[in-house]
Amino acid sequence: MKISEIIKNKRTLSFEVFPPKKYDEEIDKLFTTIKELKSFNPDFISVTYGAGGTNRKSNAEIAGFLKKLGIEPLAHITGGPSTHKEIDEIIVNLKKQDVENILCLRGDKPLDFNDEYCKEFKNATDLISYLNDRDLDIAAACYPEGHKEADSLYADLKYMKMKEDLGAKFFVTQIFYDNEYYYRLVSEARKIGIKSPIIPGIMPLLNPKSIKRTQEMCGSTIPLGFRNQLEFFKDEPSLFREVGLNYAVAQIQDLIAKGAPGVHIYVMNNAQTAKEIYQRLENVFKKLF
Ligand code: FAD
Repeated sequence: MKISEIIKNKRTLSFEVFPPKKYDEEIDKLFTTIKELKSFNPDFISVTYGAGGTNRKSNAEIAGFLKKLGIEPLAHITGGPSTHKEIDEIIVNLKKQDVENILCLRGDKPLDFNDEYCKEFKNATDLISYLNDRDLDIAAACYPEGHKEADSLYADLKYMKMKEDLGAKFFVTQIFYDNEYYYRLVSEARKIGIKSPIIPGIMPLLNPKSIKRTQEMCGSTIPLGFRNQLEFFKDEPSLFREVGLNYAVAQIQDLIAKGAPGVHIYVMNNAQTAKEIYQRLENVFKKLF
């Protein structure tokens, strides 16, 4: 089913998983995780795609596994490392698995960025315009704090609008820890005529290492008050995890109360994280999703 159709009728709960690095050794573990995630009734689960384009086979396989399990997959595709021919092959593979929803991305430029990267698809917009006639629901990424390479939030919003005009039916946001960035993005997006649902992406910070990783990868700001709490509990792993989970739950509650169309949780292949969030919000999810 097309996710844009699901969103028309209800709030969505969704998760993100990624293909494991040691695919053959760890794929069964991921499949077990996915079965556990199913018990929380997600409306869809997204599957990431390596920026270097290395895991294109596993991305389709995992999407196929989701589909067979009765969970709608949202398959990420990064245009940056790919040729048109490779993208055609990816789509053939995804269609074989009956995948109907894709998240079109450019992908992060590698540190040793050379002209080969982004040669055929310079931006997500190129990928969207290449794929917008394939009977697939297209989603795209957006950035509550602006994309790190953009001159400003407003410059970035211009391309968000272009993504919608070219065929993106809904957006999933980058991680953020201050909901005000999300509300500002939605408000500014509406002002320039972007009408599609903007699903907030939430990733709980569960250990001290994840702070550095999240900031390096996503550049998301961690508000001082929250940062101070994390700092205070940094030598108490279980309390640190508790603080991170509670913060994510508070973010989700606030987002729902203020009308977000759903919530996308970056669970990092960890069903326990989903479970702990779900249990804290079970009645909210059951009643309002
Ligand atoms: P773009 O939309 O191309 O934007 C990149 C930059 O170019 C921005 O500064 C933007 O303002 C600008 N821009 C956009 N369009 C144009 C245009 N037409 N002309 C000129 N400038 C333009 N990475 C992965 O490798 N694999 C994944 O599976 C993955 N999943 C993600 C899921 C989500 C929800 C998000 C938010 C990010 C994900 N990423 C993933 C990271 C993503 O690839 C990076 O953030 C990347 O740097 C930008 O991708 P994009 O699709 O937003 O690029």
